Amino acid sequence: MASLLLDEARARFDLLTVTAYDVTLDLREEDTFASRTVIDLVSRGGQTFLDLKALALHVIRLNGAALPVDAWADGRYPLALPAGEHRIEVEATMGFRNDGEGLHRAVDPADGRTYVYQMSFMSAAPSVFACFDQPDLKAPYTLHVTAPPDWLVVANAAGTQVAPGQWEFARSEPLSTYFVTLLGGPYHRVADEHDGIPLGFLCKGSTARALEADAEELFTLTRQCFDEFHRLFGIRYPFGKYDQAFVPDFNASAMENPGCVTFREGHLFTTSVPRGLRVQRATTIAHEMAHQWFGNLVSPKWWDDLWLNEAFAEYMGNRVTAEVTEFSEALAWASTTRKNWGLTADSRPSTHPVAGTGAVDADAALQDFDGIAYAKGQAVLTQLAQRIGDEVFFGGVRDHFTRHSFGNATMHDLFDAWERAGAGDLDAWADAWLRTAGLDRVELVRPVDGAAAVLVRTSPDGRPSLRAQAFDIAVWDGADWRTTEVSLDADHVPVDLPADAPVVLDAHDTAWADLTIDHVTAERLIDLMPRTTDPLLRGTIWTTIRNGVHHARLDPARAVDLLTAGIPSEEHDFALTALGTWAGDDGEGTHHTVHLKLLAVVADRESAQRRLYDAFVARATSARPGSELQLAAAQAAILSAPEPEPLRALLAGEWLPGLLLDSGLRWRALKRLASLGATDLDELDKAIAEDSDAKSQLAHAWCRARLPEADAKAWAWQRFTGEVKASNYEIEAIGSGMWQTGRDDLLAPYGVRYFEELPATTEVREGWVLGDAARFFYPITLTTEDTLRRTDALIAAPGLNPTLRRVLVDAGDEVRRRLDCLQEYAR
Ligand SMILES: [Zn+2]
Repeated sequence: MASLLLDEARARFDLLTVTAYDVTLDLREEDTFASRTVIDLVSRGGQTFLDLKALALHVIRLNGAALPVDAWADGRYPLALPAGEHRIEVEATMGFRNDGEGLHRAVDPADGRTYVYQMSFMSAAPSVFACFDQPDLKAPYTLHVTAPPDWLVVANAAGTQVAPGQWEFARSEPLSTYFVTLLGGPYHRVADEHDGIPLGFLCKGSTARALEADAEELFTLTRQCFDEFHRLFGIRYPFGKYDQAFVPDFNASAMENPGCVTFREGHLFTTSVPRGLRVQRATTIAHEMAHQWFGNLVSPKWWDDLWLNEAFAEYMGNRVTAEVTEFSEALAWASTTRKNWGLTADSRPSTHPVAGTGAVDADAALQDFDGIAYAKGQAVLTQLAQRIGDEVFFGGVRDHFTRHSFGNATMHDLFDAWERAGAGDLDAWADAWLRTAGLDRVELVRPVDGAAAVLVRTSPDGRPSLRAQAFDIAVWDGADWRTTEVSLDADHVPVDLPADAPVVLDAHDTAWADLTIDHVTAERLIDLMPRTTDPLLRGTIWTTIRNGVHHARLDPARAVDLLTAGIPSEEHDFALTALGTWAGDDGEGTHHTVHLKLLAVVADRESAQRRLYDAFVARATSARPGSELQLAAAQAAILSAPEPEPLRALLAGEWLPGLLLDSGLRWRALKRLASLGATDLDELDKAIAEDSDAKSQLAHAWCRARLPEADAKAWAWQRFTGEVKASNYEIEAIGSGMWQTGRDDLLAPYGVRYFEELPATTEVREGWVLGDAARFFYPITLTTEDTLRRTDALIAAPGLNPTLRRVLVDAGDEVRRRLDCLQEYAR
């Protein structure tokens, strides 16, 4: 279906003012729903089109007169609108979706009950109601819903059940189409109120206990963040009530829909979790709340400013979480767990400037909605905020919110507001950091023959860099780390250092650069890690080690030495989780877009895995029994367990004292057993019979795809090609499970078929899940020149879908780096 072009959006904005939407939905059927939309608008006279992604269009009327339904094609209905007021009425049948977009419908495997939610971002609103789908045609919405009588229905504005199954909603504030939402189903809701704002949290009925257990934590966070945002922004929350819902199969981490935020269900903890996941959830709650102002009250005019939306929410979310909630470690969490995402994206061939990418259409914009938008955007905004100071930063932000309230604005509007508030001329800074892609490599060249040590900055294109930045370096003085600030405003900056002192660049995580640990420091850090306690400094060390391996500048074997030296003294569970995932197999935890998996590039894989396992077990053993630290260390140990015995002990409840065996740990153990070829479908089926919730179902699917049998791989492949239908979450689980290092005998045929069959997946998928399926089923573990050749050939194929091409460019870069690293250190 056609993706809206920037030119088309501009023309439609110039032509129309949309006055109001009135939407009526009947959600009582299983596969489809009736959708009736009445749109009032004012035209300045001209031709345009309405967006409608329906299964069938029954009636379309303009000012009461029927128009021919057969003019509807490719998701658009052409309209001639003379100057003046018009009313358009559309009656259509829409399809529920199972890919996390539009009106997603999911049946909870735990109890067979049905839930729906609407995800309109970025261009799925027309699959729920007819509309002019672009961010700058805002209008108020009035919603009417007919639903099964046992459903709770919640939307952006407050609603009331006026008769069994009959829901009427208040007229909303002006909304962009991309954040119009509703939820329906037997949702469990807990309610509270703060400062005049009605608050709610919702989840599926089968997970009600988990929500009840954490309700106080969640409401407290929400209250604290509202107070702080009111204080910082000086403008009250503008959308009435505030609901936050944990919904099934959600593609993103969360979506900021005004008054009705949706979160991925994984943010609701049905099993024991380390504290790091609570920190992550807290920052996500704060991030979505920041969007209520930045994004919702004032919305981007076009998708090329989405980065600013995310960078702002990310900066405010992490900062406010650290400053006003119990999760004061939020900044160390972010630096340890999020930064590599952006650094990796910024060093791929697909890197792009933070801003000004143009985004010719929504599909193109979705591809740039990546670690550069979030992590790099956040890093550069942090630098800007430090440079101009809070008074100017928030002065500009308040001015921006006031001027563009309930409207749209651009990056230029915000920068103008900052300049009016006293920021000075920001043009050169914006050119260097926002309009230029890539990151500089910064290396320490140690003193030789009495010369001073030098920081050498190299830009990716080899030309002099314009990216000036200030950061702290930490130098070991024999007893402790001493930090000094350096201002990196030239390509060679001398620094005063003792000749052989260990040095960590960017001690407080304020730099944006490709950094590594130099050899002298790496050698000494093995002794110094236990004496290094500052969590930000440790976070930088872990990030820098991963980055060094990613760029083949740090021997993966040396990284194993550093990890095994530092893990036993790690005090933050989120660092153990991040390192455990890095040291785990492909398909475990994050997928292959964050950084190279350590064990995929290390020379002696078996011994490295055993040493890492021993280090995690040592940490789990020294941690307080039953603590979150013990849990995180145990989870990491499971990921690298070299043999089945400890996993069998865990399943028998006899592994580590104090470690509670719940369904989360049980499935982790079963996944590892599947990787070791030490379980079978019988055992997996028995486990699912005892534990049939959604998470267990996905873990079961992962395990099934991982079993070292030809049947298992064929079963997985049918889901990839679309021969057998699978939801977006099943696609992720099955693709991640399927590929495993060391099983080339079973997997090699799929390394050929992938490239033959990938292009046709556009016939069975679109949007997020199209790219996800391509990514998760990519033959990442077949690290060969042949895989690289096939990747490059398909990238060059004319007519390849751009979403698929982008996935292949990144995956090909990953394989190339793996080969480089193996070449350099392992072969
Ligand atoms: Zn966001």
